[in-house]
Parts: sequence; C-alpha cells; structure tokens
Amino acid sequence: MGLMKERGRISGPQYHGKSLRTDMMRALVYHGRNDIRLDQVPEPEIGPGEAKIRITNTSICATDIEEWKYGPTYITSVPTVMGHEVSGRVEQIRDGSSGISVGDRVMVDNVLVCGTCFWCLSGHQATCPNMEVAGLGRDGGLAEFMTWPVDHLIELPDGVKDDEAPLLEPTTVAVHAVRRSGVCVGDSVAVLGVGTVGALTLQAFKAAGAVVYAVDVRASSLQMAARLGADEVVDASRGDAGDRLGDLTGGIGPDFVVETAGAVRTPLDAFDWVRRAGTVVLVGIYAAKPEADFNVIVGKEIRVIGSVAAGTGDMRAAVKLVADGKIRLEELVSERISLDRVIPDGFERMASESKDVFRIVVSPDA
Ligand SMILES: [Zn+2]
Ligand SMILES: [Zn+2]
Repeated sequence: MGLMKERGRISGPQYHGKSLRTDMMRALVYHGRNDIRLDQVPEPEIGPGEAKIRITNTSICATDIEEWKYGPTYITSVPTVMGHEVSGRVEQIRDGSSGISVGDRVMVDNVLVCGTCFWCLSGHQATCPNMEVAGLGRDGGLAEFMTWPVDHLIELPDGVKDDEAPLLEPTTVAVHAVRRSGVCVGDSVAVLGVGTVGALTLQAFKAAGAVVYAVDVRASSLQMAARLGADEVVDASRGDAGDRLGDLTGGIGPDFVVETAGAVRTPLDAFDWVRRAGTVVLVGIYAAKPEADFNVIVGKEIRVIGSVAAGTGDMRAAVKLVADGKIRLEELVSERISLDRVIPDGFERMASESKDVFRIVVSPDA
C-alpha cells in the first residue's frame, strides 16, 4: 500500500467558516505540454448514476506520451488526471442499476457519447462530436480512485487477469478496426506496424477468420507477431516487403492492408502493397503529415477506411475475445510499475528513442 497507509484525512480549505475535510489521493495530472506531475488531489466525488472505483491497474498509451510532448490534442480540459486504459474494483455506487455491485472487478468503458446526436442515432458512436473520454476530457485512472458512470463499467470475467485488464482498451481499437473493415473469413490481411495496437489488431483479424501477415522493421515486433499467431511475418527493413506480400498472395497483394504504425511513409506503403480494388484501413494516429500518392488510390480503386477509438459494443466484444483466449494480452505487458514511479519509469521510458516496451502497467499499490 505504500503511501496509502500514510495518507490520512487532511484539512481542506475553509469555506464559509466551515472546515471542509477532504480525502486526498495521488494522481498523475496533466498541466500542459511537457508538464505532468504526480500531485496530491482530492478524491473524486461520486455523482448520481456513478461508481467510485479503486484503481488496480492502468496502462500508459502512446497517446498519453503524445499529449505530454506535443499536446494538448485530445485533452479537452486542463488540468486533468491522465489515464484512459483503466481497471479497478467498485468501491461505492450511487443510484446505479446496471448489474454492477460494490466489490466487482471492472473495466472502465472509457468512451462516453451523447446518444442523441446525428452520429449516435445513426450507429456511428465513435464519431460523436460530444464524446468524452476518461483521461482526456474527464479525470482518468492514473490515480488511486476515479468515478465513472456505472452503466459504462464492464465486469471482468475470471479469464481476464487484473494486470492485463487495462489492455482491453487498446483491444477495443483493434475490434473496432475489424468491424469497420468488413473483412470476411479467409481474406488476407497485412498489418503494418506491430506495436501494441498492431499486435492486438493482428489477433482480432485472426479471430475474425482472416489470414494475417505482420509487417514491421523491428525484430522484437516480428517475434511478438509470430508468438501471437501471425501466419507470416515480413521484415520491412529489407526493403522488399511489397514483393514478399505479393509472393504470399499469389502475386495479387493482400485484400486488406491495415496501417497501425502512424509513420510518415506507412500509408504510402499501404496503398502500394494492397491489391487492386483492395481495402486500406487507417488506424494509426499521425504525429506528422503522412505522404500519399492519391493517384494510386484512384488508379487501383482502393477503398480507404478510417477507424478511430471504439463504438458501443466494441468493449464488450473485446472482453469476450480475451476471456475466451482468442486475443492474448499478457505478452504485451512489458513492465509493471508503481504509481509513485509513473513519470521516471513509465512516461520517460515510453518517450525514449529506444522505446523497448509494448505496454507499461501502473498500479497504485505496487
Ligand atoms: Zn490508448
Ligand atoms: Zn453523440
């Protein structure tokens, strides 16, 4: 428990002559670009229909690093408690009735949509303009506690371990990409980039019945892809990845190329390598403007699909796929650290040039 044991009730500010006493907690707070701090903040107050969650594990995402170094991009209010890949245990519930009880192990379904706009009502919740996301627009889970609508908590089945559970969030991104793609059983899919999202995407496409080729320049990523069930791995550092993909598909090219690397050149590779009249799914978030030759898209009649975050139902599907062993998360947990070390051992390491980790999982109690 570390600090938790020493943390007592401390005096809050004086309002209207009354002394307000507030429980304090540790939280990683985003104060602006290049300014994140492990602060002592008041524990969140539970609102109607919400649960208070004692956080067990939160993973650090590349998006968190981008917000820290180049943001705020998706962070809509500052200061905000970071962390959008969150699991925990329900501590308290205020008038919610969704089958969730105090003591349940839960995953935070971190995307809240309005449910009333044009996009929500037409089944495209991932593009709701009123979307709020834990750790970006509302206080998230790199903390000891958070509050969240109880109807957006998903009970974790026994098959999902505590410390791998936060990776269910990037799994929803992979599930969403598969659903957006319209892939059919037996189709060939090349996944470009085997970072965490790529590794989950390749497993999600396998679960959908596709033949999956993993493409990366890093040997460690290709080894991971092979371990996670890629049908073939293609080393793009050799410069002939397009030819290899051609050979693997009888000279035609993959039916789908799914771009998860988010690099400047990888969308161009995707358009070059996909078969004529094939589909490119763009999942990567591009820090710099990518290169693309639009004549290739026109000339090959490529269908281009963007896929972002997740929609309603994707999280439940992700939980089921993991619980059933169709998608494996454990291999992608590279490191477990305590919240006290989140900046030096978590954010600094994820931001380093020689990043050698998939996900780092942070626990308040570690
Ligand atoms: Zn993320
Ligand atoms: Zn909406």
